[in-house]
Amino acid sequence: MDRQREEMRRRASRERQKRYFKKRLVTTLGLLLVITGIGVTAAVLASNKKRDKDKKDGTVETIADPAVNENSQKQQESEAPKPQEPETPSWEAVLQEADLLAAGYDYDGAIEKVKGFTGYEGVSELTAAINGYETKKAECVPVNISEIPHVFYHTLVVDPSKAFADQEHNPQAVGNNQWMTTIDEFNKITQTMYEEGYVLVDLKDIAEETVDENGITHYKEGTIMLPPGKKAFVLSLDDLSYYHSYDGYGFASKMVLDENGKPKCEYIQDDGTTVVGDYDAVPLLDKFIEEHPDASYKGAKGTIALTGYNGVLGYRTDISYQTVPDDINADKKKWLEEHPDFDLETERAKAKEVADAMKADGWKFASHTWGHMKIGEASMERIQADTTKWKENVEPIVGETDVIIFAHGQDLAGWPEGYMAGNEKFEYLKSNGFNYYCNVDSAQYNIQIRDNYVRMGRRNLDGYRIYFNSIGEENTLSDLFNASDILDPQRPPVQRLH
Ligand SMILES: [Zn+2]
Repeated sequence: MDRQREEMRRRASRERQKRYFKKRLVTTLGLLLVITGIGVTAAVLASNKKRDKDKKDGTVETIADPAVNENSQKQQESEAPKPQEPETPSWEAVLQEADLLAAGYDYDGAIEKVKGFTGYEGVSELTAAINGYETKKAECVPVNISEIPHVFYHTLVVDPSKAFADQEHNPQAVGNNQWMTTIDEFNKITQTMYEEGYVLVDLKDIAEETVDENGITHYKEGTIMLPPGKKAFVLSLDDLSYYHSYDGYGFASKMVLDENGKPKCEYIQDDGTTVVGDYDAVPLLDKFIEEHPDASYKGAKGTIALTGYNGVLGYRTDISYQTVPDDINADKKKWLEEHPDFDLETERAKAKEVADAMKADGWKFASHTWGHMKIGEASMERIQADTTKWKENVEPIVGETDVIIFAHGQDLAGWPEGYMAGNEKFEYLKSNGFNYYCNVDSAQYNIQIRDNYVRMGRRNLDGYRIYFNSIGEENTLSDLFNASDILDPQRPPVQRLH
């Protein structure tokens, strides 16, 4: 209020002074009419002198025409904003970033970061940091590439009481119990493996790619340098599509972005309300690595193997939702009836937004075949049709990939013979751009790096393995963790496969 009153008082004073000047001008003009040319000059000079004097007294400032002031201000505002000088980060901020890179074993990146700071030589903390990174780098030893385990999970169980209910009568609940891991189990495994010295590396870290003068890519063993005592492992996630068949079984319903643009999961609660949070492996692992940057080698995350028939990441992105062929599955039909506002392009755009954010966080995508097909048994015609569908419906969302993770654990050849010339299915997939091939063999590790492809066996860390290891009927996990410490107490006994 006081400020308003003060402003009003100032305005009134300005008005008074303006009126005084007008009065003076009239007087001067009157005089001009009566006196001669010399008189005119004299009068003008006198007037100017008076102004100058007033200026010196500091009173004219307030008389200055406010319109003139306003105009000049507007002019300044309408000028294009000056390009801001890029803010120079403080050496403390640079050191913090470099420390984070070094925590993820990227010592060269950390050193480069520090040396990018102008005048780093004069900051003892920075030169000491470089020495520290160099010492740590020198201590690192190469990982034995042929002994890297590759583990995988499916969509995690949020609510075991739903996923595993009625083991006696519901075959789907039996399947959930066999193939799915609970959030509780996943978190325990992640923490235990971290404590045991396991560091997550990218699937592609295991190979080194070189392109020859003909543009052909050749593969050989990659180099992964870790501190002594650390062990590497590769991670993949299968079927992150949130299939219609998962509805009502206590799984997340889709991946979404939170208010910070970070990938999270949507979960539909019993009362029908939706919550967003860490309801699957992607946000859980993102959080773990944020809290433990030394759990991941150079920021590696996992590779996500996607089919396309129910869409991806919980979005119904397949063309069949729009064309609605006569033989459309009953669950798709039901979903379409429940979602009359469905629009294919909107679904695809949303899915791409989520996929892009995941890629920005280090996640990679792979084909799991469009139709979750049994590659070993399928005819060439079916494989060709399936590959076309994947490239038309999934690739535009997740981007090109040269990784294929076979469904049902099937493969194109046995170990150790591998993919030989004349293997028609391999040659077809290779000609369609696939260079990395993964199956499921549950061996501790199986890696085959040949000149024209990279192949890696995988281990399922699911209910089946955890349960039978926990009761001592299997010993396939003890190099990673003690299964009886991991087993979710809410998991019922798992049925043996026959
Ligand atoms: Zn699968």
